[in-house]
Parts: sequence; C-alpha cells; structure tokens
Amino acid sequence: RALSKGELLLHYQPQVDAVTMQLIGAEALIRWQHPEWGMVSPGRFIPIAENSGQILEIGDWVLRTALRQIADWRATGITVVPVAVNLSALQFRQTSLCDTVSQALRDFDVPPQLLELELTERIAMEDSSFTLDQISKLHAMGITLSIDDFGTGYSSLSYLRRYQIDKLKIDQSFVQDLDRETDSGTIVRAIINMAHGMGFKTIAEGVETQAQLDYLRQHGCDEIQGYFFSRPIPAADFERLLLPAGA
Ligand code: C2E
Ligand code: CA
Ligand code: CA
Repeated sequence: RALSKGELLLHYQPQVDAVTMQLIGAEALIRWQHPEWGMVSPGRFIPIAENSGQILEIGDWVLRTALRQIADWRATGITVVPVAVNLSALQFRQTSLCDTVSQALRDFDVPPQLLELELTERIAMEDSSFTLDQISKLHAMGITLSIDDFGTGYSSLSYLRRYQIDKLKIDQSFVQDLDRETDSGTIVRAIINMAHGMGFKTIAEGVETQAQLDYLRQHGCDEIQGYFFSRPIPAADFERLLLPAGA
C-alpha cells in the first residue's frame, strides 16, 4: 500500500573520485515515509518485500523513479552523473529483466551509460549459464554493473573473472574496521589489487573518516562513498551538487 499511497521515495548518496574528490555518481536508496512511523529504514522493509515477492513491484518503481529523475535533470540542462540502482535477487532471476530495463531506458530516453545496477554477491555467485547470460546481456546494453557488499559473501574467483562486470563495491564492514587494529587493511588491499588485476574498478562504501579515506587513496581505491563526503540526501539537495551543463 505504501507504493500506491506514494509513501516511497528515493534518496541519492554521492559517489566521488578518490583522487580528485569530484562527484562521479550516486546510489539511489529507497526510503519509506510512513504517516505515523516516520522514516522506515529499508533494512526493515526490503527483506519483508523480498520474502513476499513485492520487491518486484517495488524494484520496478525504484528503477523507473531513478530514470525519471535522471531525465528531469537532463531536461533542465544539468550535467548528470550515472545513478546506481540496487537489484534484488528476485529481480535478477526474472527472464524479463533485460526487456524491463531497456523498456524503461527507452520510456525516459535515458542513455544506458547513466544507469548502473548493483548486484549482490549472492546473485552473482549462482552458478548457472543463466547468470552468465543475464550479466552479459546487461553489459551488452551498455549498463554499468557492480557487485555490492563485496567480500562478505561467497565469491568464487573463477566465476568473477567470467563476468562482464565493471566494479566491486568494498563492503563497509572492512572500511569501518580500517581505523582499528585488524586485518581489514590486508583484506581491502587484496580486494583492490585483485579487482584491478581483473580489470574492475573499486568503490569503497561507508567511508566516514579522513583516516579511512587516506588509507583507501594510498592503496589505489578508485571511488569513495560514505558519510565522510555525504549521507544519502533528497533529490533536490543532490541536484545542487550537479553542475550546469558545460560548466
Ligand atoms: P546497501 O546497498 O549496502 O546500501 C548502503 C547502505 O549504507 C545505505 O543504507 C547507506 O545509507 C549506508 N551508508 C552509506 N554510507 C555510510 C557510512 O558512511 N556509514 C554508515 N554507517 N552507513 C552508510 P540504507 O539506505 O539504510 O540501505 C540499507 C540497505 O537496504 C541497502 O544496503 C540495500 O541492501 C537495501 N536497499 C536500499 N534501497 C534499495 C532498493 O531500492 N532496492 C533494493 N533491492 N534494496 C535496497
Ligand atoms: Ca547498494
Ligand atoms: Ca553495500
């Protein structure tokens, strides 16, 4: 009902280049503004929607809302950056996914280069020709693909190298532990080196401190996302970070 009552909205969290700190993208994150409960965290309702199958309808709404937003920004002459949308396993398993995505891109007249899809490690590690095929098709459409929460699941390195993906998102648990005396630094460096060796970019998530940023930069992480730069913010606030076209 939240969907039909218009209680869902998207916030956008900036992603920046680790070296120049320039804005290079955004992740669209869903929010539920409940009339009595206030903002409900996606961590609370997304798992329920996944179990009930309603994630398909919600996921479709997220995709179309993000693309409509990109189209609106383009229409006002703003230089837009690519927007990353989270894809749940159920969405990925739909044989119609590629058609749905390309139809939505056409409907809003948005070039595929402005859309990124975040897959979970769990999705990507399902060993099947279907997974390989689905990833290849999305890649062939010109969409950027990334693996979310990388390092927390059961990644098979032999699958990974077969996939036409673009980016690994280093899970925030490793990033946040960088400040403490743990093995996180070793893990983060290993992920960055492996990713680069396989031709993938890396983005670190959950960067909150200067020390974390310095470490990531020093070890060649390409992109940064986290509270240190900005929290997820409403579309109108995000728009102010975008430059007018030609600027
Ligand atoms: P995620 O995809 O791993 O998203 C990153 C989460 O980390 C977001 O939480 C974001 O607000 C938070 N975050 C970002 N930077 C920092 C930081 O510096 N420190 C800390 N402590 N947290 C940070 P959020 O928005 O609550 O989303 C939680 C999860 O809900 C997401 O994790 C994702 O799995 C899911 N989700 C959100 N939106 C969607 C959606 O549209 N579709 C699907 N399928 N899942 C979504
Ligand atoms: Ca994500
Ligand atoms: Ca993540």
